[in-house]
Amino acid sequence: MAKVTFNIDRCKGCNLCVEACPKKILALSHDELNAKGFHPVEIIDESRCIGCGFCATMCPEAAITVEKEGRAEISAAMEKVLMKGNEAMAEAAIIAGCRFFFGYPITPQTEVAAYMAKRMLEVGGVNLQAESELAAISMVMGASSTGVRVMTSSSSPGISLMGEGISYLAGCDLPALLINVQRAGPGLGGIQPAQSDYFQATRSMAHGDFHIISLAPNSVQEMADLTMKAFDLADQYRMQVMILADAILGQMMEPVILRDAEKKKLPEKTWAVTGTGGRRKKNIINSLYLSVEELDKVNRERFARYKIVEEKETLFEEYMTDDAEIVMAAYGATSRICKNAIATARTKGIKVGLIRPITLWPFPKKAFQKVAQRAKAFLCVEMSMGQMIDDIRLAVGGSKRVAFCGRVGGMVPSPEEILEKLEQLNGGGVNA
Ligand code: SF4
Ligand code: SF4
Repeated sequence: MAKVTFNIDRCKGCNLCVEACPKKILALSHDELNAKGFHPVEIIDESRCIGCGFCATMCPEAAITVEKEGRAEISAAMEKVLMKGNEAMAEAAIIAGCRFFFGYPITPQTEVAAYMAKRMLEVGGVNLQAESELAAISMVMGASSTGVRVMTSSSSPGISLMGEGISYLAGCDLPALLINVQRAGPGLGGIQPAQSDYFQATRSMAHGDFHIISLAPNSVQEMADLTMKAFDLADQYRMQVMILADAILGQMMEPVILRDAEKKKLPEKTWAVTGTGGRRKKNIINSLYLSVEELDKVNRERFARYKIVEEKETLFEEYMTDDAEIVMAAYGATSRICKNAIATARTKGIKVGLIRPITLWPFPKKAFQKVAQRAKAFLCVEMSMGQMIDDIRLAVGGSKRVAFCGRVGGMVPSPEEILEKLEQLNGGGVNA
């Protein structure tokens, strides 16, 4: 026997659960109003409930708990909610302990800032819409200097404006989360999805010798999970971590479980500027070194840390590569389109698989080197003119052909276009 309970005062009367219920036993109340002033949902015939949990899954307010045989199947506490990618990243950041957000609105990431404006008030945090992206990143720097978890978020042209500040963060070894919900460029470009900031995120963020860790989610769930991970990575290695998303992921809605933050043992922030109280030597946050020997030493130490990140933190997904003769490479939203193309290609007898880099820096070179021993060719699929393709070529060292399929300007490669390339490549006709 299933039991459905509602937190009536959370309900906003959106009707999603009513539509989702396969038994059609939910309805919005005609008479009752809840504390928010909405007609809340009610159950008409609980005896017909099968405990499927669809209602709870769909509820954006986590207002429904479904119990089956005395056990909570789906509950508000599990936080399985339908969310936009942009909002999931913002909520995950709050769960991870971020209480400082500084940003400037730009499409298609504005929901991150809008969500933070609402939630930071509720959790006692600080949300500030700066006068510009340069001001926002400078505020991030100030907050990070004190050891708190802090983030900013923007979209392609806005991230370019933050470049100087990101270099200063790197020069000062200050942890921070940077979100880039990419749009088409260059210049102001357009507001549609793109993956043309790959070079920027992996090798040319700004002046100076430094790297940032770049994480590329391909679902709303991963956007939430990687946001939490990003804060841990930033604190562990005193680095700047970017979530490189795009307009598709930022705007789409999917069910997501907002898990509790993992309790990792992280290094203490003994470097933070928190006031000495006369008990210790002053901490100084600085990126200016007039002694050439000292600057050389600081840079070498930073790159020794980067080496550890490359060894320990590289992430990727391998999909159907065991017998693959052609291995596709794609990240983010594009990787999902590739999986669709793989399903059709396999029915036509084309042995194809996919490597999906989850960390773009560090790039999963070893995964490509391993499959290159067997695969005949690679096909890189991107929403750009071809940027990640260079990393694949470097990884396989020219040993295999690396072809390309891409769309730009806000256009998205279709499964049919990818399939056509695969068929050509399978027949040996695609020039890299
Ligand atoms: S658990 Fe399933 S059957 Fe029961 S009310 Fe929810 S959606 Fe309907
Ligand atoms: S989905 Fe949630 S918020 Fe919407 S009507 Fe149902 S209980 Fe209320």
